[in-house]
Amino acid sequence: MPAQHPDKTPQNVFDIVIIGAGFAGLYMLHKARKLGLHARVFEVGEGVGGTWHWNRYPGARCDVESMQYSYQFDEDLQQEWEWSERYSGQPEILRYANHVADRFNLRDDIQFETRVESACFDEAEETWTISTDRHETVSAQFVVMATGCLSSTNAPVFPGQDEFEGDIHHTGRWPREGVDFSGKRVAVIGTGSSGIQAIPIIAEQADHLTVFQRTAQYAIPAHNRPLKAEEQATVKARYSEFRQENSLYPNGFSLRMPLNEMPALEASEDERATEYEARWAEGGFTFSWSFADLGTNLEANATAASFVRNKIHEIVEDPETAKKLSPDSVIGCKRLCLDTGYFKTFNRPDVDLVDISQQGIDRITPTGIQCGSEQHEVDILVLATGFDAMTGTLLAMDIRGRNGLSLTKQWEAGPRTYLGLGIPAFPNLFTISGPGSPSVLTNMIVSIEQHVNWISDCLEAMRAAGHQTIEASEEAADAWVAHVNEVADQTVYPSCNSWYLGANVPGKPRVFMPLLGFPPYVEKCDEVAASNYEGFVLG
Ligand code: NAP
Repeated sequence: MPAQHPDKTPQNVFDIVIIGAGFAGLYMLHKARKLGLHARVFEVGEGVGGTWHWNRYPGARCDVESMQYSYQFDEDLQQEWEWSERYSGQPEILRYANHVADRFNLRDDIQFETRVESACFDEAEETWTISTDRHETVSAQFVVMATGCLSSTNAPVFPGQDEFEGDIHHTGRWPREGVDFSGKRVAVIGTGSSGIQAIPIIAEQADHLTVFQRTAQYAIPAHNRPLKAEEQATVKARYSEFRQENSLYPNGFSLRMPLNEMPALEASEDERATEYEARWAEGGFTFSWSFADLGTNLEANATAASFVRNKIHEIVEDPETAKKLSPDSVIGCKRLCLDTGYFKTFNRPDVDLVDISQQGIDRITPTGIQCGSEQHEVDILVLATGFDAMTGTLLAMDIRGRNGLSLTKQWEAGPRTYLGLGIPAFPNLFTISGPGSPSVLTNMIVSIEQHVNWISDCLEAMRAAGHQTIEASEEAADAWVAHVNEVADQTVYPSCNSWYLGANVPGKPRVFMPLLGFPPYVEKCDEVAASNYEGFVLG
């Protein structure tokens, strides 16, 4: 059991402890201060920005367009900040996070380079005791997990890896000082969003690049470009209406071309080709709105998949390589990727693709990677192998609720939350964009703000009514988990081994974690609040 002796000196007794200083933690702190709460944020990194602090790999860029991927809580902030590109790169987003921290003077209440090791609920005192790796324990009435959905890396360890003589870097823990690939033979393992963004840039810098692909991925061109001043001005002239309209879309963001309401199977082959071509030319997730039934009907979905496969064969000159790069799965089941020159990169004479779908990687040797009888000589190994998504960071801490119940035990069959906000037996603990909420299927900043606003309103309502504790009921959580899975079961999402299902991490329970559909979710959260927090027990 973790330490149970909080330091009760006044400076170490907080109303609220927030874990994480990414976009969720920063806004939660801002709101907590507005409520007059004594707050402390603990952050492992040495700076703010969360995912944008850690994912500094070359090519890291947001797939949600810049005018939408930003906070809306402060009109002056959204009017003042100028984005330079259609999709913002990691350095610009990190500058924005730092700007927010400075503008609202948030750093004073953030303790950096501090990992929370445990959080335990003291039933007698009705407070949480939080212990950190700096051997300090503090107490707080409320704990908010602003720990992010993609913050714990999935870093497989291959046999022999310890003996590798070169450097190994995970895209999700990229060194601050960068990596110099010049003159090096580089290997990238993993072809999800991170790999697909990093590969073209690494290929330009390295002497030779070998990509190890276990599953081919669909990618749509991003068509990134500078953002025109008039485009920004048009949005800024009616920013709040723009935000309001976007919140009504299923993912909490709008796309450049409206959803085509026609089902793909009702369109002629020519109509389908024209539609897909137009959206491919426009770039971005707009492609997934080509027809109304791509996410729900496998036959319709196959028409889009076939279009992208044909594109891959058009772009990639070597037919054998094109075939290897062509997925045969359901498009959009694993998160669709946006790319800038990804497929074209395989036309370079200094880039090789190794298909490891059948036999895998046998071992890492001191100088390379062994697959069957082939040894690939490598100086630098890049793991673009993704994350233990949504639950990894929470379960890495020792979190204990009533009767010392551990979160690991509570979630042994998969995460159980109510609304993705509360966990039964863990009173006064909130998860921002937790499993069971739309989170990773939306514009994350929009979902974060909705959660932070809901939590802040809840804290205010509790104070007004004189309540000390709030706790999700077991029944509400069970019903909610069933609901999240029922919604997913009506779509193509459960048909592949995606990280949404936890299927990328060996041994992780297979449960569809995020909830599809932002607007009905917001409505439900509002209803719960309006009905005196139905499904929660107030004490
Ligand atoms: P990911 O989508 O989970 O992809 C990981 C890749 O590594 C997959 O190709 C996977 O193969 C492979 N892999 C994992 N373990 C392996 C092993 N033991 N041996 C060989 N290959 C292995 O991870 P990600 O690319 O980091 O992206 C995760 C999520 O982060 C994205 O879906 C997205 O939500 C977010 N993200 C967003 C952006 C953006 O907005 N632009 C950029 C990067 C990431 P399998 O498919 O066979 O498992």
